[in-house]
Amino acid sequence: MEEFDVAIVGYGPAGAVLAHLLGQCGLKTVVLERESAAYHLPRAVHFDAEVMRVLQWIGIAEKIEPMTALHPGMRFVDGGGKLLLDWPRPQGEGPQGWRANYRFHQPDLEKLLRDGLADRPEVSVRTRCDVFFVEDQGESVEIRYEDMTCGKVNRIRAKYVVGCDGARSLIRRYIESGMEDYGFHERWLVVDLILNRDKPELGDHSIQYCVPERPATYVRGPGMRRRWEITVRPEEDSAEIARPERVWELLKDWITPEEAELERTAVYVFHSLVADDWRKGRLLLAGDACHQTPPFMGQGMCAGTRDVANLYWKLALICQGKVTGEAAERLLDTYESERKPNAREYIQTAVRLGGLINTVGTETALRAALPGADGSARMESIAPPIGPGLGQGEKAGRLFGQPRLADGRLMDRVFPHAFVVVADAELAEGLDLPEGVGLVTTANSNAAEHLARLGARATVLRPDRHTLGGADTPEELRALVALILPNPLTLQEPEMV
Ligand SMILES: Cc1cc2nc3c(=O)[nH]c(=O)nc-3n(C[C@H](O)[C@H](O)[C@H](O)COP(=O)(O)OP(=O)(O)OC[C@H]3O[C@@H](n4cnc5c(N)ncnc54)[C@H](O)[C@@H]3O)c2cc1C
Repeated sequence: MEEFDVAIVGYGPAGAVLAHLLGQCGLKTVVLERESAAYHLPRAVHFDAEVMRVLQWIGIAEKIEPMTALHPGMRFVDGGGKLLLDWPRPQGEGPQGWRANYRFHQPDLEKLLRDGLADRPEVSVRTRCDVFFVEDQGESVEIRYEDMTCGKVNRIRAKYVVGCDGARSLIRRYIESGMEDYGFHERWLVVDLILNRDKPELGDHSIQYCVPERPATYVRGPGMRRRWEITVRPEEDSAEIARPERVWELLKDWITPEEAELERTAVYVFHSLVADDWRKGRLLLAGDACHQTPPFMGQGMCAGTRDVANLYWKLALICQGKVTGEAAERLLDTYESERKPNAREYIQTAVRLGGLINTVGTETALRAALPGADGSARMESIAPPIGPGLGQGEKAGRLFGQPRLADGRLMDRVFPHAFVVVADAELAEGLDLPEGVGLVTTANSNAAEHLARLGARATVLRPDRHTLGGADTPEELRALVALILPNPLTLQEPEMV
């Protein structure tokens, strides 16, 4: 029977990004996908700097960047068009080394992800393969799938299976996980248009129309793409409201059929769910398989990307035999304990935002409900820390920025997939580092501003660029460095933060 380190079920963005990351780490990986091609219609239209940084790791960032559009921010208006709240987003390079937000077309990204995998010999992609059975046999998992091109059933074996198999995940059923429900289940009509000619009056901002009778969202996509998302009332029929004549009637205040082509119309039911269990033995979940969010923050695919960035290096350390036994079990358990609270926080904010769009709020009410309760309402200020897991102290589990080295290169290009010590130059003097661990100091980079943001003189970064903690003295820094795998077979007891 063919054997793999990891079998990924599902070749959406979560599965594809995970396949790249595992392939880069040299893991023998198979991706099994039921469909023959990527889903060709638009879904996600926004991603953030953290996602762009992951795309940088796998060589996609520079390719997708020219295909993106600026995202100046979000505006909330009432039925009469009066501005209730302006929520600008920072422009220019931010702490992650990229812009804070990007507008994009999901099929463009999925094509780049798939094209890029053709150059990764460690990864075998098998489309038209429907997985119908998995069995965790203790030492490995047996997977059975139907090759839909010929109807043949194949059996393979993998050390781990990651279900990136979307909202109706089969792997989630094998894990027998329930779903935590945050109470948002609404039908929204999603309309994607391609303009025949430019229409600058529509603007570049996302606009939330806080009109209780018919809440709606306008989003500018890249190029001539534009999207409206419009609430479907309980008494309305999904098929009827998605008819072109009805759609143009709903859009008449903004645009006419002469000005654009309808690319697609579809009614989605948006949910707000998080799986109770993200792991059972050798089976794990990532992406929509373990969380689903209303789209108001544009964070569904972003959350899936954060999942796989958290998971890949843990699987790599284990499959490479660098972490074994009980330590491997504990390391894998930190995946759910770290990721779940972060995903939950984003979903709850999206639910709050959805509630607001359904009402005509005052500026004060809107601002209070938005991320950044300090009134700044800046997305950056809310990026919630990950939950308890690896590291030490309250400065553990923070997403750290990406320093630029003196020669202009971004840190992750120089130390891909490695642990990195970022430290004040004086504190780093004479520091003894395990093999393969990078060192970036205030003397050879702009690390000082990143350390100031963390509020520490030094930190140790995991491969996913979250901190293991903060240090202000040489002793504290040595203690943090000791949390990095000091030799291939032992993992220090992780302190739950
Ligand atoms: C209208 C809309 C707007 C959105 N806007 C945003 C946004 O702006 N920003 C954002 O970040 N996110 C957004 N999202 C969410 C985003 O599109 C999803 O979160 C993302 O596509 C999920 O990726 P995934 O890889 O987890 O799952 P999917 O893309 O659903 O992929 C799962 C794959 O698994 C395959 N599969 C399932 N079962 C099996 C099986 N048994 N065997 C083999 N293959 C199987 C499926 O065929 C599918 O290809 C939006 C979604 C919608 C619908």
